[in-house]
Amino acid sequence: MIILIGVAGAGKSVQGKLLAKDLGATWVSTGELLRQNISGDRREDMLRGKLLDDKEIISVISEFLHRGDAKNCILDGFPRTITQAQWLLNDKSITDKLKAVIHLKADKKIVKERLLTRGRLDDNEHAIDLRFKEYEAETLPIIDLFKDNGIQIYEINGERHISEVHREIMNKLTTP
Ligand code: AMP
Repeated sequence: MIILIGVAGAGKSVQGKLLAKDLGATWVSTGELLRQNISGDRREDMLRGKLLDDKEIISVISEFLHRGDAKNCILDGFPRTITQAQWLLNDKSITDKLKAVIHLKADKKIVKERLLTRGRLDDNEHAIDLRFKEYEAETLPIIDLFKDNGIQIYEINGERHISEVHREIMNKLTTP
């Protein structure tokens, strides 16, 4: 299992799909699972750029990880909060399968430009600002928690061309 962490627009999904293809793994995106499965108020929250409830996300991903091929998956967008990361770290059957965490980094100005061009429903100025804030407040602290637990973290500059970023990730993962 490889985990991709990064702010919206840093390239998690693009890189996740490329990695899955090259490594013969399954790409699993919580954002994608949610977009396909939720409606009503929670969908509205999601479109505003708010993180959804930890309990709900954990139950969605737990079902997948215990049913699917957890060893051979690229997790895109989970965990995103300390509570989610702690849940993951508490389950040894899952952390045993975790090979590395890739932290894709990109400047706010760059991700904003990318997202406004992409134009998904939640890619508007307001939702982008909230997602950036949530990333800094909720998601960034996970990196230290993983480090403290001896998990391999690769910090990758996601501002470069897609193929360059992909090459660097593959190098990190395949260099002994
Ligand atoms: P993404 O496709 O990764 O950009 O996720 C889109 C939206 O789905 C996020 O802005 C959140 O509203 C929601 N979401 C995805 N993953 C999570 C997560 N792990 N925890 C909470 N909310 C999430």
